[in-house]
Amino acid sequence: MRGFAARVRIFDGHNDALSRIATSSRPDAAAGFLDGDGDGHVDLPRAAAGGLAGGCFAVFTCPPPHDAYEDGSYFAPAPHAPSWREAMIQIGLLLRLERESEGRIRVARTPADLDASGLVAVLHLEGAEPIGTRLEELELLHAAGMRSLGLTWSRPNDFATGVPFGFPGSPDRGPGLSSAGKALVAACNELRILVDVAHLNSRGFWDVHALQDGGPPLVASHAGAHALSPSPRNLTDDQLRAIGESGGLVGINFHTGFLRADGADDPDTPQELIVAHAAHAAEVAGIDAVALGSDFDGATMPAALGDAAGLPGLLDAFRAAGFAEGELEQVAGGNWRRVLEATWAA
Ligand code: ZN
Repeated sequence: MRGFAARVRIFDGHNDALSRIATSSRPDAAAGFLDGDGDGHVDLPRAAAGGLAGGCFAVFTCPPPHDAYEDGSYFAPAPHAPSWREAMIQIGLLLRLERESEGRIRVARTPADLDASGLVAVLHLEGAEPIGTRLEELELLHAAGMRSLGLTWSRPNDFATGVPFGFPGSPDRGPGLSSAGKALVAACNELRILVDVAHLNSRGFWDVHALQDGGPPLVASHAGAHALSPSPRNLTDDQLRAIGESGGLVGINFHTGFLRADGADDPDTPQELIVAHAAHAAEVAGIDAVALGSDFDGATMPAALGDAAGLPGLLDAFRAAGFAEGELEQVAGGNWRRVLEATWAA
């Protein structure tokens, strides 16, 4: 069983390690990521222990204060200038981690980089707030290595509107993409940057679907099945089907609040629910469209999974539910590999 995990290249669609480290009170949090200080859910030693070969590392700026979730005031645009500054810090942090890791972390800029040894990091922007509507910043972000962009976090910005977190709820809330949002998708397509629809509302999702028609695959990096857990953050069967038809994927989110039918944010949640969401997505969208999108360092994990070192146990749960070895290879990393290559290859 563990031999399988060592052989398969596990690729995970979303972690928040960069914003965790950037906002840590520890002055040595970056070194702690390389050496393993036990903070959060993922660091280099735990990635190695779990067989994690790569993942999307999110740049997430201007997180709202915790009490803003209670009164709903988090659902407001993040200011542009501080978002840009925070993005520069988090990108600088990843580039420093790559340099100081001496080959143990590699930022992937081309399809061939995805096969590098060590931990492969795809630089992802979660929410386009750091970018101005004339899009010059996009060129700089691309030059710095950014290869994946989520139009929104769960709030509106100049480009699109994210979904709020209320449970239960529909993702169909708020308007679709602005004209600047449509221009941003077109610019990403030209630069071969993956466009991520996680956190995006329903009308925005279908706008991206129309813009990508016949083009790059539709991707939701970290989300679940609305049929199993009616969170606005999860995808309806129609959305899952469209993702499958586009040749794209959904990375199944491990956050307990998006897995459970009651939406509870509770670590006492079986990791088998991750498998159930994956099985539902496979039934609706096809096995080619199912992948992992943990949300490590940004969410509440099922206790049995714990952190990145628990990934082999999650693969065992997939196997116990009847996933064949070839299907597991696809879900664990093969589908992400295919979609990134299809998006990035000119
Ligand atoms: Zn997220």
